[in-house]
Amino acid sequence: LDLAKIEAGKIVLEYRQISIEELMQSSLRFIKQIAFKKKIKVSTNTSSTIKTFRADEKRMKQILVNLLSNAVKFTPDEGQIGLDVNVNEENQTISFMVWDTGIGISQEDIDKLFLPFVQIDSALSRQYEGTGLGLALVNNLVNMHNGSVTIGSQEEKGSRFIVTIPIMEPESKFKDSKIDKLNSESNVLIVKEDVQEKRGGQRLILLAEDNEHNITTIKDYLEAKQFQVVVARNGKQAVEITHEIKPKLILMDIQMPVMNGLESTKEIRASSNSKISGIPIIALTSLAMPGDREKCLNAGADEYMKKPVSLKNLVKTINEFLEKKA
Ligand code: MN
Repeated sequence: LDLAKIEAGKIVLEYRQISIEELMQSSLRFIKQIAFKKKIKVSTNTSSTIKTFRADEKRMKQILVNLLSNAVKFTPDEGQIGLDVNVNEENQTISFMVWDTGIGISQEDIDKLFLPFVQIDSALSRQYEGTGLGLALVNNLVNMHNGSVTIGSQEEKGSRFIVTIPIMEPESKFKDSKIDKLNSESNVLIVKEDVQEKRGGQRLILLAEDNEHNITTIKDYLEAKQFQVVVARNGKQAVEITHEIKPKLILMDIQMPVMNGLESTKEIRASSNSKISGIPIIALTSLAMPGDREKCLNAGADEYMKKPVSLKNLVKTINEFLEKKA
């Protein structure tokens, strides 16, 4: 099962140059027959200024086929679905939007859709069994590409799933190294060394993030901008390290194992030590749903940014918080 392999760190992306047109066509081929049977109109739209981008072709196709299959399933006979591709030159990202005129998904069900193995308690899930698992897989594969999934849905009006990933392959030290997956023991060792040498720094940032590509990309960039960076790989570590090193700011991924970023943020805010509870927290999420911003801010985050974050904007935001504090 792909999802289990991903969670065990057994899947490594194979980046290559992908033709956008070929990817679209080969993904659409999977749903052609069922769409035809249900008399569903399938449209495509691309305003892309580029013809190719770098990603794992097999995984990208898996992402799109999953979303397209859902779209066809959720759409009644004679409805419409579509695949739209857009390139954002400024952010250097490519977006794939899969939309439908189907039954839509309620806010409550959206929240549950991406949790693996969770049964959505509604007629919807009984009718479309397996959907949740598909979306958990989509989210993980997109996350591996350093991207984000945005969901918009209105009951009775249809859904939109937007996958956004960087056009370029993220540079990673881990890509060529023999380290497949750092086990938790070695993580703790790395953390301890980091902590000893950096504690109390004036430009000390805690990066709470579980994706190695994202860790490398963000850490390298921040260090090049003269920040000191300590990494926590789950929410529980983030809380512990925050108490230990009292960073000047925390970058908090939301989807993390052991304890997620929302819970971690709440724990830090609940600290009786004002030097801990008052640390600025920027929430970063790869899964953007309506109401997410409020959820992060309600948990105590000061700011909310969607992945892939523009590193330039990230540093600008960090500097604004540090200046405010100083
Ligand atoms: Mn994550």
